[in-house]
Amino acid sequence: MINFQLSINEVKSFILDFLFPKYCVNCNREISQTDSWVCLSCAQKIVPVVSQVCPACGRLTENGRYCPKCSKDKSLIGVMAAAYFDEGPIREMIHNFKYNGVLELGDRLAEMMVDSLNNELRSMNHGENKIHNSLFMLHDSILTFVPMHWQRKAKRGYNQAEVLARIIGQKLNIEVCELLTKPKKTKRQAELSGNSRRKNLQGTFILNADCCVKNREIIIVDDVVTTGSTLNECAAVLKKAGAKKIWGLVISRG
Ligand SMILES: [Zn+2]
Ligand SMILES: [Zn+2]
Repeated sequence: MINFQLSINEVKSFILDFLFPKYCVNCNREISQTDSWVCLSCAQKIVPVVSQVCPACGRLTENGRYCPKCSKDKSLIGVMAAAYFDEGPIREMIHNFKYNGVLELGDRLAEMMVDSLNNELRSMNHGENKIHNSLFMLHDSILTFVPMHWQRKAKRGYNQAEVLARIIGQKLNIEVCELLTKPKKTKRQAELSGNSRRKNLQGTFILNADCCVKNREIIIVDDVVTTGSTLNECAAVLKKAGAKKIWGLVISRG
């Protein structure tokens, strides 16, 4: 005998599948309502970053810190990245999360960032690197994000870096603070190269008045890092205000 007893959720999912079919953001295959916008086969193609590199020159470094050559004038210690940009669905996931309002992807992306952060912290605090790294105390640190100009945020409806930071904060049970604002509108970084990127950002980030970062360890969240100018400009403001250690945490190196 056929069992007609379907759960309310199964009925709901069946109706939703019929009315609003959901497609994988990477391969366009139809997926079920319960899948988070990436099909199983594409999800398996995601390659997590195991060996972090210097954000400036790409040389292998411990935990993604700047190498001795590139660390000059940097306020950021380094950047930890979660997955490879060009492998599997990552590029499409970021694009849809950032520009097409598919906020549900944030959960999966944030989860990968949490895994990456945990991996790096484990090696920072317990591995061979312990000798030249003083311990990084995650639960005493502050999680923040690269701010967006209010007009741009209003247009998009959200700041993708903030969405990620808030999910990560929740998953790790650490404080998330909006430490910085961006009162001045700037040209899009993607349109500029090297030096002009740095100039474009000079003085654009401001510490929020009621934030105290003195002697704190801070992790700045962003979606993608390219040259690292944005994260470093943010870090410079925090360092000037007395922050002890500042790291960047991103989904990918673009
Ligand atoms: Zn797919
Ligand atoms: Zn380097």
